[in-house]
Amino acid sequence: MQSTAAAVAYFFMLISFYIDIGQDMSPKYYFPMFLPIVVGFILSQSARSRLFFRRDNLPNLITAVGWCVTFPILYTWTYERPWFMSLICYDAIVGTAIFLMLSNVGVLLTAIKCPRLSAALMSASNFFCLAIPFIQAVYYCMTWHCLSPESLMALYMTNWRESIDFLQATFGFFLLPIVGVIVFLLSKAYNVHREFFSEFEGDWRQRLIALIVVIGSVATLADYLPQTSIAELWKDVTTYAAQLQEYKTDYDQRFDELTIDRSSTLASKARGTVIVVIGESASRDYMKAFNPSFEYDDTPWLSARTPDEGFLIYRNAYACWSQTVPVLQRALTEQSQYNDKEFFNSISIVDVAKKSGYHTYWFSNQGRYGEFDSATTLVAKTADESRWTDDAYDFSNKYDVELLNDLERVDGRENNFIVLHLIGSHIYYNNRYPKDFKRWVTADGTGMALATEAYANTILYTDYVLSRVFDYAREHLNLQAMIYFSDHGENLRISHNPDVFSFDMVRIPMWIYLSAEYRKVLPSRAETLLKNRGRYFTNDMMYDTVSGILNAASNKYDAGQDFSSTEYNFDRATLTTMLGRYRLTDDPDGAAEEF
Ligand SMILES: [Zn+2]
Repeated sequence: MQSTAAAVAYFFMLISFYIDIGQDMSPKYYFPMFLPIVVGFILSQSARSRLFFRRDNLPNLITAVGWCVTFPILYTWTYERPWFMSLICYDAIVGTAIFLMLSNVGVLLTAIKCPRLSAALMSASNFFCLAIPFIQAVYYCMTWHCLSPESLMALYMTNWRESIDFLQATFGFFLLPIVGVIVFLLSKAYNVHREFFSEFEGDWRQRLIALIVVIGSVATLADYLPQTSIAELWKDVTTYAAQLQEYKTDYDQRFDELTIDRSSTLASKARGTVIVVIGESASRDYMKAFNPSFEYDDTPWLSARTPDEGFLIYRNAYACWSQTVPVLQRALTEQSQYNDKEFFNSISIVDVAKKSGYHTYWFSNQGRYGEFDSATTLVAKTADESRWTDDAYDFSNKYDVELLNDLERVDGRENNFIVLHLIGSHIYYNNRYPKDFKRWVTADGTGMALATEAYANTILYTDYVLSRVFDYAREHLNLQAMIYFSDHGENLRISHNPDVFSFDMVRIPMWIYLSAEYRKVLPSRAETLLKNRGRYFTNDMMYDTVSGILNAASNKYDAGQDFSSTEYNFDRATLTTMLGRYRLTDDPDGAAEEF
């Protein structure tokens, strides 16, 4: 009787909790759970020959409740609206099944008659089962946002070194206390389990009942765990990664089908080199040349270029997302926010350059990831020559100036298309520049890893690297055009996490240089690019824009997305960012568009 009452109490407390956080608890979702839960509880309590709600079962109860409530409540707090009940009931089922399983595994472990080992095994099981809710809770505490597909993707796509950087950046000084709390809780759980194993011996009849419940709960978990919200999110992320692999599959056929009229391309009209530099985490809000009210003069070289003929600075450029890989897979290929093309069916700027007669190079000072190549790396590897400064599958700790060594190996008499991928201003800022560039420091000289002063130093250093690339290419590589844009921006307090979006994360710097010869052979392109200086642009249209600058219109080219074309047909009112989530007119700091 008492054990039935305990089961019913558990069930109704759970349902009340969901109703309390605003969930629609329609009976069709929770009623089918009722009977199996009550039966499971009655069996388990007879296996343990005691009630469930006792101190010796507390670690298992906490583990269960962790699963039942973490995702629903964090989702509700984040979005202030209910999640799907059909998915929340899976969290409830999984949490309860874990509770039943652990409680009965405890009974089975009495068979080995070693309280210490049994208690250790039980604590380890609690830790293992709680790991996922715990990660969600800690992530929430640090960002005030629940784990989303985007944040999981970032965790999934990043290499281990970057993950450690990410953890340090997110948790900072909290990392040690968090580990301390885990150790403390584990030792508490161990003591509680030990008490249970010291006083409870169990007989074969109890173990038999426990075995039945364990088998039932494991079968339930196998069925329902993959259907929980967090598991579904993880599946989305891994499916996406597999799609990236698809990019490779039909690559040769895609490339063969790309047709370009080579008689009118830039390569055929003016021999020389075109360079595309992809910046990292540079926000024009914190760059003097773009924002004169920024307190540090961190772009002396770029500011001095402003009056140069053929040097065009764009003050209204935006990223299409706030993280590297989703941005670059669009910037580099046909895929954009405005078409429904898929990355893995798309032609890239490297393909277009190759087909229009360039020797193609990709030099990167970023990591190149591991087993699942990121979109960037997939494109990079299609270049005739690709090289990473740090040749390990790892995150680069080298300074961007290293890329100059690669430039020196390029033959200046050829037609060259070179992509340089900088590490730029990626956190930690103080790791991104040599000490000669430590021009600004915080008042007391500490906390430089994430300080505005250090960020300004990274921009100052990028300004220097760009000047070196520009000067070298003009002197030795017959530079015809150079394009610089950042993948996304940065918020100096919270970096560039899409879960806590602000517009400085997508307000990016962009400039284009066109040589005198370029302006002579393709005057209409040069004129249009000059005229568009006050217009709005998002960097997912970079593929068509680079195609335009190369004058390499193809069967895979959209003039409407080409900033160098008179047919460019977007403006501030029609452009979006964060993959369509925001309009650029939502940016409170956006300037009036000049046509
Ligand atoms: Zn980035």
